[in-house]
Amino acid sequence: MLDLHVHLLGHMDRQATKENIRSFLDEAQRKDIRQIGFADHDMYWGDLDFGLLREVAGEYPELQVRVGLEVNYEEDREEKIARMIDSYPFDYVIGSVHQIGGWFFDFPEEEETHLRRDSDSLYQEYFSLVEKAASSGLFNIIGHFDLIKIFKIRPQTDVRILARQALQAIKDHGLALEINTNGRYKPVQEFYPEIKLMEVIQKMEIPFTLGSDAHESGVVGRDLREACQLLKNIGVNDIVGFTQRRKEFLSLE
Ligand SMILES: [Zn+2]
Ligand SMILES: [Zn+2]
Repeated sequence: MLDLHVHLLGHMDRQATKENIRSFLDEAQRKDIRQIGFADHDMYWGDLDFGLLREVAGEYPELQVRVGLEVNYEEDREEKIARMIDSYPFDYVIGSVHQIGGWFFDFPEEEETHLRRDSDSLYQEYFSLVEKAASSGLFNIIGHFDLIKIFKIRPQTDVRILARQALQAIKDHGLALEINTNGRYKPVQEFYPEIKLMEVIQKMEIPFTLGSDAHESGVVGRDLREACQLLKNIGVNDIVGFTQRRKEFLSLE
């Protein structure tokens, strides 16, 4: 089992210290996770300490510790993102859409705005940004693929149709998609992406990876065993981890 979506710093709730890193790695061992990847938000760039992660990882030879980054994708940031990614040998980079035209749509207080908007056009705008993120060539994984459902507002059109071009871009550019279990703890109360999208992804042979989106150590690995079982139920036999930005396939035993 692996967990590639872990935030050591949370939302700057703590600093990068050896003790903090150890608490995440200890939890990974308790949960029987073989590969854990730190992917803090790029907005905290100045507070990230990749060298310290690698150093503490050395104390855990039985764990595969990976160093990644979760990048907040915006069209006009592509050059800046490319420079950031090139400045460190990451194992993988997650591209996530958290905002539409400068609007951080996933903040709890934004539910009202979602309710006022036409759901189909909201989903369309969101997925077209995901498509651009996937086509940018900057990322290895797309984070929480259907985050736009966060407040449980569904589109009128079948989501599989609205997501189709984004999925095709992910497939064409060789990216992986995560089962992100954190959605269960948001108003929508289900994993990202939802089951009917998982089935399409499986049919398209897009590789899956796993992420808890833990912002504190206790959440590392949360519900990932269940996510593995779900994947097996829809016929998925392996998931991907990453090292030096290359995929490594691991079988779901
Ligand atoms: Zn995110
Ligand atoms: Zn995250």
